Amino acid sequence: MSSIVLSVVVPMYNEEAVIPALVERLRPTLDGLGVSYEVVTVDDGSADRTAQVLFEQGRTWPELRLVRLRQNSGHQAALTAGLHRSRGDWVVSIDADLQDPPETIADMLRTARDQGLDVVYGIRSDRSTDTFFKRHTAGAYYKLMRRMVGADVPAQAGDFRLLSREVVDVLRVLPERTPVYRLLVPSLGFASGTVSYVREKRAAGETKYPLRKMVALAWDSAANFSAAPLRLATWLGIVAFVACLGLMVFGLVVWANGTVIPGWTSLFLAVLLLSGVQLICLGLLGEYVARIYQTVQNRPAFHIGFDSVAATPAEIPQQRSAAGAL
Ligand code: UDP
Ligand code: MG
Repeated sequence: MSSIVLSVVVPMYNEEAVIPALVERLRPTLDGLGVSYEVVTVDDGSADRTAQVLFEQGRTWPELRLVRLRQNSGHQAALTAGLHRSRGDWVVSIDADLQDPPETIADMLRTARDQGLDVVYGIRSDRSTDTFFKRHTAGAYYKLMRRMVGADVPAQAGDFRLLSREVVDVLRVLPERTPVYRLLVPSLGFASGTVSYVREKRAAGETKYPLRKMVALAWDSAANFSAAPLRLATWLGIVAFVACLGLMVFGLVVWANGTVIPGWTSLFLAVLLLSGVQLICLGLLGEYVARIYQTVQNRPAFHIGFDSVAATPAEIPQQRSAAGAL
């Protein structure tokens, strides 16, 4: 077991303006927890002085670590870097802009330890400080993702969450290039709980999530968890094929009545038939591509949570529920 109990991962992209406020609030909170910790700040290829400011802060705050990415790689990639470099028994990820209140970390750690959980999600109970646009696009996103990935995905849970070392180790071996942690973590099926908090206003600076990045996240989410877009070709093919059968009858009737230019019917039928067949074949190819994709993603098909042979007495279910009732 490492000697660090808690790692706090903070991805940052052009966040120089918010760092002083973040340090001022995060440091006393973490010092007050009474456990050893490290703060893993990940500078996601910022163009401003984020890295320099962090480095300066590190002189007086030895627990502050700085990991720098060579270029801007996106929020989820920065999170990946932070998770990979973290050393704590527990790892919390939190935004740099103080929209997620650091004081909630104490609640998360307590909830996880008291209830024997591996994951604790921060749930935004109130988003009134977000813009109308952000609230509604986020609402639609969570609705869609719960339909696609399953109801295990908590609504309104962003990237403010606590993970146990075991979860981080499972995530670390997944070779996904574009992980979307808010969906990937629930899909692993670890025992999880929630802590709700009120989303605050960004403490300084501007949002680093323009529409372009929001759309990219939504597309990664859909493509990582569903082959539905690939199946589109199959469905279009089936529709085209059925329509083609109807049109074939029409073409033959017109031909029998002798009111068409010679050659039209055969050409018309050949084009219809072939386009339907082509789309169906594309869809079939898509099915196999989807399976190859799943294999390459290499997600565990199952995760063993309990094994009576290897279990410690504290893990035996009856004892655990008795402890939970205390
Ligand atoms: N972020 C990042 N790389 C990016 C974009 C954002 O590391 O390319 C970080 C950003 O610094 C912040 C977190 O991701 O710590 C969430 O971004 P932001 O608060 O701007 O998003 P919003 O709250 O507006 O959705
Ligand atoms: Mg924010």
